[in-house]
Amino acid sequence: MKHFDVAIIGSGPSGASTAYHLAKAGISTVIIEKETLPRYKTCGGGLVFRGRNSLPFDIKAVVDKEFYTVDIVLGEKLQFKTHREEPTITMVMRDSFDKHFTERAKEVGVTLLENHKLESLEFNDNLVYLTTSQGTITTNFVIAADGALSPTAKMAGWLKDTRKLIPALEYEVEVSDEDFERLSKVVRFDIDAIPYGYAWSFPKKKHLSIGVATTKRSKINLKKYYQSYLETLGINIIISESQHGFQIPVSPRTDGFVKNNVFLIGDAAGFADPITAEGISNAIYSGKLAAEAIIEADKEPQLAAVLYEAKLDAKLIPELKTALWLSKWFYEQKTIRNLFLKKYGQQVCEEMANIFHGKRTYPKDIKQKLKDKVKQLVF
Ligand SMILES: Cc1cc2nc3c(=O)[nH]c(=O)nc-3n(C[C@H](O)[C@H](O)[C@H](O)COP(=O)(O)OP(=O)(O)OC[C@H]3O[C@@H](n4cnc5c(N)ncnc54)[C@H](O)[C@@H]3O)c2cc1C
Repeated sequence: MKHFDVAIIGSGPSGASTAYHLAKAGISTVIIEKETLPRYKTCGGGLVFRGRNSLPFDIKAVVDKEFYTVDIVLGEKLQFKTHREEPTITMVMRDSFDKHFTERAKEVGVTLLENHKLESLEFNDNLVYLTTSQGTITTNFVIAADGALSPTAKMAGWLKDTRKLIPALEYEVEVSDEDFERLSKVVRFDIDAIPYGYAWSFPKKKHLSIGVATTKRSKINLKKYYQSYLETLGINIIISESQHGFQIPVSPRTDGFVKNNVFLIGDAAGFADPITAEGISNAIYSGKLAAEAIIEADKEPQLAAVLYEAKLDAKLIPELKTALWLSKWFYEQKTIRNLFLKKYGQQVCEEMANIFHGKRTYPKDIKQKLKDKVKQLVF
């Protein structure tokens, strides 16, 4: 039976990130992936600069487009643009991006087992026995990088799901040359194009990724809002269209991120941004933190667990908690929000761009700051 120090379930950005950093430090690491790469992943493929900038290798080969200017639209009256010298959003297709990332991990020593689906976990004598669709391996650490559904978390004992999962619907759309010429120059977010959420148009090399996401889990007909968004974009002719629906976990679990030497990262942990639902950069970041914890603990499981939780608490968890509160305010208090944006909209968009660029994070005292500014507006 093969043994690895660390077994990572999933070859998305979180898993590839942990794998890369562990193998670089000389730790024997395997990625267990149920699909064969490259595989399609439902995602807008908008990689924000802080995520791209944190990668220890070049990704030019898998970049579809780069956007230095981002448009934020709230109907006819409130429209903003932010511009930066570095690409705020890099467009990738996740099949090529994830493969590229995994290939870089393989180059530093990671073993990739494709077409291996994790089926069960067993804990015995300080070892974890992983049964996959193609046999069993043993390991000291398991990293659950298996996305929003995370079967690994369930197998490891996270029986109740404490994350907030929001529905999103995304289409890969081929439009006429004329429409593509017009729409491929702009990356845009249309806030309120769907209740409690937003729609996006992300231009790729030859097509558009268009989607809608809502922060409410009520009976909102996502398809209907997608169709009316096509009208907003002025798209009348569709040459081809493929529909992909999935969930995005936009709040961190509240019952811990480590159990029985199993560490949760990325979507499995609930680390997508609560306001933008952007999950790739925090997937990469949390993957790196898990690797650092194991390396710094010299593979001692209890210490690694303590270090990982401490690293998360130092920055990511407080950031996500603030963003979760802000997201509720932003999407649910429309009238006051629009009043606020009339005065401070450009400033808010600049700060969001700064967050995308990793230049700042959500302010800790956001509640008080907002209250003070709203008071000034109303009185
Ligand atoms: C519609 C939509 C649009 C989005 N748009 C964006 C965007 O534009 N920008 C952005 O930053 N984020 C976006 N996100 C969020 C982003 O896709 C995720 O946050 C990100 O992919 C999380 O990465 P991950 O590595 O944690 O998991 P994933 O990327 O989901 O990877 C999980 C991997 O685990 C594998 N796996 C699952 N089960 C098993 C098993 N039993 N055995 C072995 N392998 C298994 C899967 O095959 C997969 O390869 C979007 C999400 C959705 C749903």
